[in-house]
Amino acid sequence: MKMNELEQLRQIIGESTNIVFFGGAGVSTESNIPDFRSESGLFNAQSKYGFRPETMLSHSFFINHPQQFFEYHLNEMIFPDAQPNSAHIALAKLEQQRKLRAVITQNIDGLHQLAGSRKVLELHGSVLRNYCLNCGAKYGIDFMLKHRQDIPHCLDCGGIVRPDVVLYEEGLDSRVVDAAERYISNADVLIVGGTSLVVYPAAGLINYFRGRKLVLINKSVTDYDRKADLIVRDSIGAALKYAVGE
Ligand code: ZN
Repeated sequence: MKMNELEQLRQIIGESTNIVFFGGAGVSTESNIPDFRSESGLFNAQSKYGFRPETMLSHSFFINHPQQFFEYHLNEMIFPDAQPNSAHIALAKLEQQRKLRAVITQNIDGLHQLAGSRKVLELHGSVLRNYCLNCGAKYGIDFMLKHRQDIPHCLDCGGIVRPDVVLYEEGLDSRVVDAAERYISNADVLIVGGTSLVVYPAAGLINYFRGRKLVLINKSVTDYDRKADLIVRDSIGAALKYAVGE
């Protein structure tokens, strides 16, 4: 651990009551949810299913190959036993202390809410929410997990039940994006963690920040490093746990 960076992070967090956190896949990998965009995710998808993850998680693939779409989605994208890690827990604590205004996440696993966070903007939706394409009836994750070998159909009308996640080729929910822009442009401190900031719309959103301190917590280099006031090259969970305190 680089104490100096962590002390600086602790100080920045200590001084602000208007923090926004923006997180990507790296926040969830510490809860053992693999990043499907990683090399192993790509390898696993291609060797097991014969397609790239981005292909199988696209709108056209869902429409044209629903059986394979659900096989991949239900078996590879859902981790019902995953638990919040130190990062999720520290962020929930900061919100409780009225220091953190919102968590903006690219993850679809619902772990921030499970840790106790209330203001969570899910840019890419959530696997915990599912709905019938035909009548709009809502279904939870347990219903979906009963259909790991087939296509989930609505109990009311027989329509296909799909996850409320944003697939490739689909647009983001503009209300969520607008809210994310608002929180970021009003934030005093923006902490960005576990994202290389290359996946849309992450990079664009960061540009809305006009506050005092931009903090990046990332093990790898990003295009935004030169704009950051502080870069922490550490695990997000370990860094936030240290900076927020037990
Ligand atoms: Zn229905």
